[in-house]
Amino acid sequence: MGATLSGDPAGRYRELSHWLSTLDEPLTPRPALPGDADADVVIVGAGYTGLWTAYHLARAEPALRIIVLEKEIAGYGASGRNGGWCSALFPTSLTGLARRHGRDAAIAMQRALHETVREVGRVVAAEGIDCDWADGGTVTLARTGPQLARARAAVDEARAFGFGAEHLALLDTGEATARCAAEGVRGGTYTPHCAAVHPAKLVRGLARAVERLGVTIHERTPVTAIRAGSAVTVAGTVRAPVVVRATEGYTPALPGQRRTVAPVYSLMVATEPLPAETWARIGLAQRETFSDHRHVIIYGQRTADGRLAFGGRGAPYHFGSRVSPGYDREPRVFAALRRTLGELFPVLGPDVPVTHTWGGPLGVARDWAASVGFDRASGLAWAGGYVGDGVGSSNLAGRTLADLIRGERTELTTLPWVNHRSRRWEPEPLRWLAVNTALRVMTTADTTEMRTNRPSRRAKTLSRLLGN
Ligand SMILES: Cc1cc2nc3c(=O)[nH]c(=O)nc-3n(C[C@H](O)[C@H](O)[C@H](O)COP(=O)(O)OP(=O)(O)OC[C@H]3O[C@@H](n4cnc5c(N)ncnc54)[C@H](O)[C@@H]3O)c2cc1C
Repeated sequence: MGATLSGDPAGRYRELSHWLSTLDEPLTPRPALPGDADADVVIVGAGYTGLWTAYHLARAEPALRIIVLEKEIAGYGASGRNGGWCSALFPTSLTGLARRHGRDAAIAMQRALHETVREVGRVVAAEGIDCDWADGGTVTLARTGPQLARARAAVDEARAFGFGAEHLALLDTGEATARCAAEGVRGGTYTPHCAAVHPAKLVRGLARAVERLGVTIHERTPVTAIRAGSAVTVAGTVRAPVVVRATEGYTPALPGQRRTVAPVYSLMVATEPLPAETWARIGLAQRETFSDHRHVIIYGQRTADGRLAFGGRGAPYHFGSRVSPGYDREPRVFAALRRTLGELFPVLGPDVPVTHTWGGPLGVARDWAASVGFDRASGLAWAGGYVGDGVGSSNLAGRTLADLIRGERTELTTLPWVNHRSRRWEPEPLRWLAVNTALRVMTTADTTEMRTNRPSRRAKTLSRLLGN
C-alpha cells in the first residue's frame, strides 16, 4: 500500500521498465476513486490477474457492476515489467502436482496451461491488442553435463505424463544451436507452448479492453484493507459482495497478509537494437524465448524492435517482505546479467550494449504453489503465487475466478490449484534466512557446476526440500 509515486507520475512510471518506456501512449493516471461506491465485484490490483478476472466476468455477465482499484496505474506491477514469456510453465512440477493431487489432476492442469497460451493469443487478436505477439515457443539450452541431465529429466517427466515430443522435445547440439547459437551449447529442450510478448502493451491493452466492456478502473487508489463486503481506501470504501485480491508481490503490505506470499525480485536488462549481422549469429529467428537449465532462472527474448531483453533472479529478499521502488535496482545483479549475456553471446563484445535496467517483485507461496480461490461465505477471492510464471497462468486464473464467482462448476473450477491454500511463511528472521539461503545455495551451485561440470548435491537437496 503506502504512498503512491510522487512528482511527475507519468514520467516516473515510464522509468519502471524498458517496456513501459517504449509505450506509445500517455501514462496519465485514470481518475482515482472519488468517494464511497457500490459494486457487484471489486477487484484490487490492475495487473494481468485483476484485469483478466474483470474481462472474463464482464464478458460472461455484462450487467455486473465491476470496479478495479489500482494503487498506481494498470501495469505498474510485474505485469508491466516482466520478461514477456506467455508460457505454459507452472511453479510446481508435474511430479509435484501428481504427488499432492494425483496423476490425472496434474495432466489436466498441464493441458489447461497449454490451452491458456492459445487462449491469450485468441483474445489478443480478437481485442486488437497489439503486443508484438510471436508464437516462437521456448528453447532451453543445456551448456554443461548437469544441465544436459536436467534437460533429459524434464523430457522423461513429460513422457511419463503422456506428453510427447510435440509438447517438449529433446534437442541435440545442432538442433539447439540452430534455434539459439549461444556459446558452448550441448543440447537442450524445445516447447512450442510459449509466445513472446511486449508485456506492457499486453496489460495496457487489456485495461482498455476491460473498459470497453463497461468495467471502471480507478488508478492512484491504494486499498488500505480488504474485508468481507468491502475494499477500503483513504478516498472511500467500495462495498461489494465479492472482493478479489489480485495484488501478487505487493500482498504482504495488506493488513493480515504479511506471510501469505514472499516478494522475491526478478531483474532485467535490455540491449540496444542489435544489427542484422548480430542476429544472424545469434538466431532466435522465430523470436523463441530462451533460457538454460541452470538452477537460478535466467530468461530472455528477442524483442520486436531487435533487442535482447534478458533477466534473472538472484536479487536479495528484503527483511519483513518489504517492497520498495529502490529494490527494483540492484547494480550487482545487473552486472551479473550483463556478464551472463556476454558469456552466452560473445558476439555482443566485451561491453554488452545495455540501455535499460529494471526489476520488480513477484509472489512466492511457502509451498511454491500458485493458487486461485473463492470463499463464497465471505465473498473473498484471490489468485497469485505464480513465482515467475504469471503471464499465461494469470489468464487461467481470471477465467477460473469468473466461473467460481458466478457459481459455475466447469473443468476449470476442478483444477488442482483451485482453493489450494499454502501454509504461511515463517515469521522473521526465519523467512529472511530461508529465502536468502536458498538463493545463495542455488547461485553457488550454478557457479560450481559451470566450473566442475558435475551436479551440485546441495542444490538437489534444496529442490527436494522445496517440493519442486
Ligand atoms: C522482472 C520480472 C520478470 C518476469 N518474467 C516473467 C515471464 O517472462 N513470464 C511469466 O509468466 N511471468 C513473469 N514474471 C511474473 C509475472 O510478471 C507475474 O506473475 C504477473 O505479472 C502477475 O500479475 P498480477 O496481476 O498477479 O500481479 P502484478 O502485475 O504485480 O499486479 C498487482 C497490482 O496490484 C496493485 N496493488 C498492489 N497492492 C495494492 C493495493 N493495496 N491497492 C491497490 N492496488 C494494489 C499493484 O500496483 C499492481 O499493479 C516476471 C516478473 C518480474 C518482476
